[in-house]
Amino acid sequence: MTIQLNDMSLLKTQAFVNGEWTDGDNAETFAVTNPATGEHLADVASVGAAETRRAIAAAEVAMQDWKARPAAERAKFLRRWYELVMENQQDLAKLMTLEQGKVLAESVGEVAYGASFIEWFAEEARRVYGDVLALPQTDRRGVVIKQPVGVVAAITPWNFPNAMITRKVAPALAVGCAIVLKPASETPLSALALVELANRAGLPAGLFSVLPGSNAREIGAEMTGNPTVKKVTFTGSTPVGKILMAQCAQTVKRTSMELGGNAPVIIFDDADIDQAITGALISKFRNAGQTCICANRILVQDGIYDAFMAKFVAAVQAFQIGNGMDSASTHGPVITAKAARDIDAIVKSAVEQGAKVVLGGQIDEQGECFYQPTILTNVDTQMRVFREEIFGPVAPVFKFSTEAEAIAMANDTEFGLASYIYTRDIGRVWRVSEGIEYGMVGVNEVAISADVIPFGGVKESGQGREGSKYGLDDYLETKYICMGGLHS
Ligand code: ADP
Repeated sequence: MTIQLNDMSLLKTQAFVNGEWTDGDNAETFAVTNPATGEHLADVASVGAAETRRAIAAAEVAMQDWKARPAAERAKFLRRWYELVMENQQDLAKLMTLEQGKVLAESVGEVAYGASFIEWFAEEARRVYGDVLALPQTDRRGVVIKQPVGVVAAITPWNFPNAMITRKVAPALAVGCAIVLKPASETPLSALALVELANRAGLPAGLFSVLPGSNAREIGAEMTGNPTVKKVTFTGSTPVGKILMAQCAQTVKRTSMELGGNAPVIIFDDADIDQAITGALISKFRNAGQTCICANRILVQDGIYDAFMAKFVAAVQAFQIGNGMDSASTHGPVITAKAARDIDAIVKSAVEQGAKVVLGGQIDEQGECFYQPTILTNVDTQMRVFREEIFGPVAPVFKFSTEAEAIAMANDTEFGLASYIYTRDIGRVWRVSEGIEYGMVGVNEVAISADVIPFGGVKESGQGREGSKYGLDDYLETKYICMGGLHS
């Protein structure tokens, strides 16, 4: 056994359907590997359309009782689940680093971050409000109530194997929905451990099923085509999000889409340079550059450019890439060898068009999943590094002169998820924050995410918000009731 946990019963390799651990109908499995070592970690049950259909049917049944329970009861279950997640933080973090690669400290942080959504929505469960409306007619009143949207299907990515799940499952369960989940095939172990803990917290059968599978298209087609599913929530790439939205159109399902980003970090001449460098480093290189809110483009005003570059390059030079389980490693591998090759192709194409490699610029000799922390200069807006989500530890640094130019560059993309600006000028803070087309703006700060904030994007970065009071709305329908006959 290559995985050692304090509680080995958190290591699950079967699907969890309708309250039971089960193999796929065809007894098929897929392998989970450690990107840092190439080591085989586990074979996990691979389910398809039939198991997905059964999970959805079970969800529909389970939801009837669940939505009728007092919100306080649903809250109590979520709170218990939260506590169990935190009690098992170290084991969950270890599983995550093994299957995903991020350094252990980041995994420990993600488990707490993921758990915060369970805690938040346990609290918010009791805060679903309606409205009373004064209608034009005196003999009637309007009442607006909020009801659970129905059975929810969720599809999640591998970059945050825990938090991307909890911020969908917790609000769904809080308001009375049932949910079926397909985790990324690279990181099913984190998802299965989470549902094991939910089960220990008293999860009713059928309310939350986890469907690992190597055939994402088949599971996704069932989730988006099945009329019992009323909402699909997805975090992943924009191309897959578009496919899922198109599939959902057939039965007019509601969707929440948290898709790709192309975040700019705009650093103005008047910025606190050390703060800006720290922010750019964290935002760019966290999770080896594999987050949808990672700095994708670093835009630096010409007056501060040389000073910024000197310190930025020195800081990146000090990074220590390696196995995430090794405490000396500051940054881990990327998820797969293919991901490393894709990152390399983006770098090579920039270089062919004239970009200068200041640091890194290739797959590292440590292994096929390790990409060197890279800094590129002499880059322009026509290059792939400007236009595409790099999803790796590559920092292209662009120069700009005026505020208007920075805003135009920031907006010159189909994406609109996170953005960051560094300036001490209060007027500029407002002008730029309002002028850039993004769902989220970090001002002199890159650690912008939390359970209490509405996380989400505009343009082709998606729709809907996760976390905060707004995140509850994504799982609620609005119903209007006209109360007539008031006159005696
Ligand atoms: P990433 O680049 O982060 O892997 P993807 O969008 O490819 O982003 O994957 C995100 C999630 O979507 C994963 O769980 C993956 O298995 C799933 N997925 C990929 N393609 C499809 C599809 N055609 N239908 C349904 N799910 C899909």
